[in-house]
Amino acid sequence: MFGSIRISSRIASVLLFTLISVIIPLKAMANYTQTQHPIVLVHGLFGFDSIVGVDYFYRIPEELRRGGARVYVAQVSAANSTEVRGEQLARQVEDILAATGASKVNLMGHSHGGPTIRYVAAVYPHMVASASSVAGVNWGAPMADVLQGVSDHIPLSSSVIAGLGNSFAGFINLISGGGQQQNVNAALRSLTTAETLRFNNDYPEGMPTSYCGNGAAVGPNGVRYYSWSGGRTLTNVLDVTDPFLAAVSVVFLGEKNDGLVSSCSSRLGHVIRDDYRMNHLDEVNHVLGLRHIFETSPVTVFRQQANRLRNAGL
Ligand code: CA
Repeated sequence: MFGSIRISSRIASVLLFTLISVIIPLKAMANYTQTQHPIVLVHGLFGFDSIVGVDYFYRIPEELRRGGARVYVAQVSAANSTEVRGEQLARQVEDILAATGASKVNLMGHSHGGPTIRYVAAVYPHMVASASSVAGVNWGAPMADVLQGVSDHIPLSSSVIAGLGNSFAGFINLISGGGQQQNVNAALRSLTTAETLRFNNDYPEGMPTSYCGNGAAVGPNGVRYYSWSGGRTLTNVLDVTDPFLAAVSVVFLGEKNDGLVSSCSSRLGHVIRDDYRMNHLDEVNHVLGLRHIFETSPVTVFRQQANRLRNAGL
């Protein structure tokens, strides 16, 4: 009889251990990304809302939702200035707040989406808890300077520049299915260094005051600013976009970059990292999840950021 009691107590111990070691962490994982405020993802990369015909943020909204977040994917114009895109985003944020009853949102923007969310945070801070910039074009994109013919610091011959233009057009056609060149030219104008510096002067919140410096983690508007970025171009031999990103990255003259944005240009607020082994498409888990096999998954980086916001009560 005492033996069976001992066995029962052992079984009870095992059950208790199982409960503590498996079920409780699983429960914690289940709300790992459960932020207080909804998350709004904002596309960039010169404005396309999809890449090779699939979602721009590949498998990212789904995984954030699985951890308990309410996630919305904004659709803003491809062809407009940061301010126009920002106003479009602000209207969508108003709709999201009305639909959810939430008081604020957590914005996450990639590429041109970085300045776009900064605009909304600056002009409508009462609607924004945080702004996370992913490879944001916060201090210009040299490729935009070159293709707009306003670069005065990149010593390249006209034939090299023409070649770069072709590589860039090929890249855009490859990911977008073609027909977007007009949009690209319009978007490029707002991504030149001069134009982003003008924008930073008007909307300085979270920005470093010098190139590659550190900005305030919390702006005077009460919004928390974060950023991360990759610093590689060739990351996966199976990804057909990698050679294009490597080709156009020559405009950085050796400076660390992800193919289209330098690590230094991406910096905003609390810099989580600016040197992931990711290129400009890896950062949004493209193409179709092809990325450096020894680097943290881009999806995990988004999940970690949602968890960071959750732990900050945002
Ligand atoms: Ca890739």
